[in-house]
Amino acid sequence: MNMMVKPTPRAPERFFIGGRWVEPISRQTLKVVSPSTEELLITYPEAGPADIDRAVASARDAFDNGPWPRMAPSERAGYLRRVAALLTERLDDIATAWTLQVGAPISLTKKLVGQNPTLFSYYADLIEKYPFVDERKRDDGGRVRVAKEPVGVCAAITPWNAPLVLLSYKIAAGLAAGCTMVAKPSPETPLEAYILAECIERAGLPQGVFNIVPAGREGGDYLVRHKGVDKVAFTGSTGAGKHIAQVCAERLARVSLELGGKSPAILLDDADFKAALPSLMVYTMPITGQVCFSLTRILVPEHREKEFLDLYLGAVSGIKVGDPFDPATQMGPLTMARQRARVEGYIAAGRAEGARIACGGGRPRGFDKGFFVEPTVFTDVTPHMKIVQEEIFGPVVSVLTYRDDEEAVAKANNSQYGLNASIYSADPERAYGMARRVRSGTVTINGVIIDPKHPFGGFKQSGMGREGGPEGLENYIETKTIQYA
Ligand code: NAD
Repeated sequence: MNMMVKPTPRAPERFFIGGRWVEPISRQTLKVVSPSTEELLITYPEAGPADIDRAVASARDAFDNGPWPRMAPSERAGYLRRVAALLTERLDDIATAWTLQVGAPISLTKKLVGQNPTLFSYYADLIEKYPFVDERKRDDGGRVRVAKEPVGVCAAITPWNAPLVLLSYKIAAGLAAGCTMVAKPSPETPLEAYILAECIERAGLPQGVFNIVPAGREGGDYLVRHKGVDKVAFTGSTGAGKHIAQVCAERLARVSLELGGKSPAILLDDADFKAALPSLMVYTMPITGQVCFSLTRILVPEHREKEFLDLYLGAVSGIKVGDPFDPATQMGPLTMARQRARVEGYIAAGRAEGARIACGGGRPRGFDKGFFVEPTVFTDVTPHMKIVQEEIFGPVVSVLTYRDDEEAVAKANNSQYGLNASIYSADPERAYGMARRVRSGTVTINGVIIDPKHPFGGFKQSGMGREGGPEGLENYIETKTIQYA
């Protein structure tokens, strides 16, 4: 298949540390490979321990001695609004970098990139009215002031699937709280973090307030263990999240975790399937299924299974898979060769366990390059199967059936995860009742809405803490009680 002409990215050469672009100390490099052509896109420097020490020392100095944590919130808000304005100027670059590195369709990345400036302006607005100091009274009438202070130097560690949005959640909220930040983007997708650093530099934030050290797992581990880091904000796999929580527990460093998911879409027996279809088409396999809150388990009433499958399979088999830079493409490739191997391993496991492939299951024809797989739907699945229990992180969905609402809730909750859910019903109050019984951090009635101005995060092994909304700011805050004797 012919791919459209791709932009050639400029490989980053330096790290942004202490408000300057500095030469790497480490000689290690990382590579980014195109998901659609398998060509090497860039080779760029990887931060080693000495670079990370330097970034943490800058952030430490900016926190302990610099103006940022002590500034009036309205002044910090002014800087954040400048970052938002500068990010807005770069939205096309951000969408292009996302599509180039991840393979997410350009039609989608162009739609979603606006979330980045939104997060910065949202937290700017929030801190102008947030009660950073609350006046209270003791029972004896004495004065008490409860101050909300920044937690300190924060490490922000992010995955590759939505590189800047997941970083913006952390950096916008952390900076708004008065923290200083060391960002470690994913090794496969560094470009957007560099765009953010350029905007932060142009916005004139005090030196050391924001630093980036691109690195792989070892660099991430070194950063998490660093005594100069007060808090780790992590988004990634549940396995890595558990490891990071253990490391942080050693010194009781604060930690917030946004981890994996296996989220259900529950269609109640009164649901309008045709009305549900558009949101199911977008959110059961967004970015080739590489989104933590994808609805990968669809629960339908047994007596309406055929009706549902006729609709859903018809739509899934019509998904236009192809070059992510083609505006007509609905699904691009998976991001990496190892991701495709993982997804194909799960498809094989589903087959071996006796599930039926109702559509897809292989590689699409006509692609001699690129990590493409077909959108795949399994039926005849049982709740214990690997494909139903484990996060695949690919375009693979299981359709399960249930007989009554009790069984629907039990099946929805039969998961180690609890990130997201959708409930479709003609009766919003009935759906609300069910939403309260589903053990997950977000639930949407009759659709999927993930809005950065409201909290997002996981129950159970999907994480700890919330990002977005006022709760996202509180991730970066310590509470101090000042009593007047
Ligand atoms: P990953 O856990 O392999 O890596 C995530 C980041 O952590 C990367 O920057 C990586 O270099 C770093 N890292 C890995 N191991 C580390 C360690 N031991 N110490 C410190 N840093 C470490 O995850 P991934 O494959 O990049 O991303 C996919 C996963 O992310 C999926 O499980 C997905 O569900 C999850 N995710 C969750 C959310 C959410 O908000 N809940 C959002 C997107 C992705």
